[in-house]
Amino acid sequence: MIYELAQPHYNHGPQFPGQPPNSIEFQQLAVVDGATVERCTFMTHSGSHVDAPFHYLPHLPCIHELPLSHFYGFCVALDLRGFAPSHPIDADDLRRHEALITPGTFILLKTGGGEKRGNTREFLTAWPYKSGNGAQYLLERQVKGMGIDGLSTGGYPDVHAESDAHQLLLGAKKLLLEDIHIPDALLDGRRRHFAAFPILIANAGGAWSRPIVWDDGDLDSDSSAAEIATTIPNSVAAAMALQRSAS
Ligand SMILES: [Zn+2]
Repeated sequence: MIYELAQPHYNHGPQFPGQPPNSIEFQQLAVVDGATVERCTFMTHSGSHVDAPFHYLPHLPCIHELPLSHFYGFCVALDLRGFAPSHPIDADDLRRHEALITPGTFILLKTGGGEKRGNTREFLTAWPYKSGNGAQYLLERQVKGMGIDGLSTGGYPDVHAESDAHQLLLGAKKLLLEDIHIPDALLDGRRRHFAAFPILIANAGGAWSRPIVWDDGDLDSDSSAAEIATTIPNSVAAAMALQRSAS
């Protein structure tokens, strides 16, 4: 089985408070110009994306300076649903899942935010986030990185909430993957293959990614594996359809 973890990009899609809105426009249309081409104005840290250490630490690598091996490996998903808005996910929260948090593994934190994604006050300002203390615990467990189904690894609006976990994890060159969808089927405690390769942007602190998870052997056979895809929520599908017909 192949699992889709990416969230879609679209006009005015959800992103970190204070950033200018993303836009996707038709630069030309096939019916008029012979071919359809879009023009995108995007923030690098919007939609499903990975953070490079350079994002917080100017002396550390940018996206293009990280080896491909930084972006794949084994993952396990943790069921962290049910926290209150703005809950700092700390070491005690993670210790309950200690048996799954093993050296070299990517840890996917399912808070339930991925299903609530939208331009709502809760999703944009009050997602459960990784605290500095929780980040320290992940470092002690020697994980390879982490992904979260909220807007960011850190929280909002407190400056420590926002930066402590970023500073610690990026300082140790761990992969951070943000604003993803984590299918419930991944909450069975099994280790699976994981990849979140970024678009190759020069000198950037972050880049968009289409992360996937797959079961052992699934990409090795001649026949293609079954897929579990994120369904685009109705509200988003309607907005995208509107944008398409208006152009
Ligand atoms: Zn980011």
